[in-house]
Amino acid sequence: MSYTQQSKDCSETSSVEQLEVVIVGAGFAGMYMLHRTRQLGLSARVYETGNGVGGTWYWNRYPGARCDVESMQYSYQFSDELQQEWEWSEKYSPQPDILRYADHVADRFDLRRDIQFNTRVKSAIFNEITRRWDIETSNGNQVSAAFCVMATGCLSSPNTPEFVGLSDYKGEVYHTGKWPQEDIDFSGMRVGVIGTGSSAIQSIPIFASQADHLYVFQRTPNYTIPARNAPLDPEEVKEIKADYAGLRARAKTKPVGLDLPIPTQGALETSPEDRFQEFESKWQNGGVGFMAAFKDLLFEETANETAADFVRQKIRETVDDPKTAELLSPNNIIGCKRLCVDTGYWEAFNRANVSLIDVSRSPIERISENGLITDSREYPLDAIVFATGFDAMTGALLNVDIRGCDGRTLKDKWSKGPKTYLGLSTTDFPNLFTITGPGSPSVLTNMLPSIEQHVEWITDCITYMRANGMQCIEANQEAENDWVEHVNQVARLSLRSTCSSWYVGANIEGKVRVFMPYIGGFPKYVEKCNEVVANDYDGFTLS
Ligand code: NAP
Repeated sequence: MSYTQQSKDCSETSSVEQLEVVIVGAGFAGMYMLHRTRQLGLSARVYETGNGVGGTWYWNRYPGARCDVESMQYSYQFSDELQQEWEWSEKYSPQPDILRYADHVADRFDLRRDIQFNTRVKSAIFNEITRRWDIETSNGNQVSAAFCVMATGCLSSPNTPEFVGLSDYKGEVYHTGKWPQEDIDFSGMRVGVIGTGSSAIQSIPIFASQADHLYVFQRTPNYTIPARNAPLDPEEVKEIKADYAGLRARAKTKPVGLDLPIPTQGALETSPEDRFQEFESKWQNGGVGFMAAFKDLLFEETANETAADFVRQKIRETVDDPKTAELLSPNNIIGCKRLCVDTGYWEAFNRANVSLIDVSRSPIERISENGLITDSREYPLDAIVFATGFDAMTGALLNVDIRGCDGRTLKDKWSKGPKTYLGLSTTDFPNLFTITGPGSPSVLTNMLPSIEQHVEWITDCITYMRANGMQCIEANQEAENDWVEHVNQVARLSLRSTCSSWYVGANIEGKVRVFMPYIGGFPKYVEKCNEVVANDYDGFTLS
């Protein structure tokens, strides 16, 4: 629908398309938001920078990319037909399988006709006369929407450190978070990987098997647990599908939104022998469930140290060269930075064609035409891979010029850290919603159920507003302040808030350090969201 609308200063008129909802991003959040919005009979459009759906799984197509949440749980549950019919082949799905699933969902629910690909949203400006959002895209489209929903993801704005000389470099340059669509093969090449986070840890064994020589530039070593990935057992799948609803319901009672056993014992309450047995059993089982060995690992430093010691011993047992093993051994809190999950990571350092370079002592100084220079030498390289992570949680939101009431920018409002009510909404920005925004459990949970809960909350809210003749919803300042205070308070209870991780924005120069996700757990958070609704949108003003 298109009609003539008067602009703010009333001096000119323009023809601007009117939509009910604009959704930014066609990852799992944007796709479900579109589906639910259309079910309500509202007009909606998704703008997506890429040329396909999938978000994280569209961009992170580096070799070895794999989800570390089990496939049977890392999937939508809104459609029972979908979850019954879709067949995952591996315990932990590789990126191509997840992207295939995203494509299937887009086709199955006929989503593509309302997604405009290859289009970045440049700005979203709240028009105080129309009480609607004026949205402008990179290719000059302008639309007006009653609601603007940011489905931009938590780890979607790649961070590339600004090394001097990068533009002079003559070799190939890649970022794991923006991997090309064509196959890249490093056979016969000298390759450098900067970083040793999850993305590097997954891709290094593959690069090592291809490259002539692989140099891994490590600033801080990381803890990683073997994935023990395997084909899914058809009998186990059958059993899950016989009571999928049961598994989903159990998952919703767990802090991380995953059906995993909850530990009842503390590490220090057990004998050293029993403790070792429990760590060994979790280790053999593989994956992030390792941290569920004991209930106090993320709350007591001495308990945490027992888990860290166990993993360090595994590194010494796996890596042949004692000096390399020592360099690969982290000495910080395990699980404070996001725990990594790997397939053959430490083993890769036993290969003659892999060198570990410690750039904590000998930092990367610059990039030359031929390679990378640390303060001790030059490493000639044919390709450099930045596995340097993301401007997490706020990066993708602040990449869009978002302006609310009185022209206030979101960047300005969040200059001392993100401030939201429930991670869904922020004062002064009416009818703007964030899916898995800062202040919500998001990255500390299984993302899919968290996304679904947010989408359902937002669409229920829009339904309520329409039924009650309301045009605008805005978080109250006091409710937002209380929520931000609560998010900070709970964060202080966990060791997770104590280290220099992307959870606190420490990986981005100049970013304010504040623990961004809500660590109170999925069930508590959902209870709060439901309470707000039951009390007529307590903490919001509807007008
Ligand atoms: P990351 O965890 O932030 O790791 C970035 C790495 O780059 C770190 O080792 C960091 O070192 C290094 N680095 C950054 N700037 C540097 C510089 N100037 N010089 C040298 N080293 C530098 O990023 P990521 O590996 O992409 O992972 C981000 C998150 O994405 C993960 O934590 C996870 O939540 C998610 N992810 C999930 C999966 C999965 O499901 N399996 C896979 C990949 C990613 P410092 O530690 O010293 O800063």
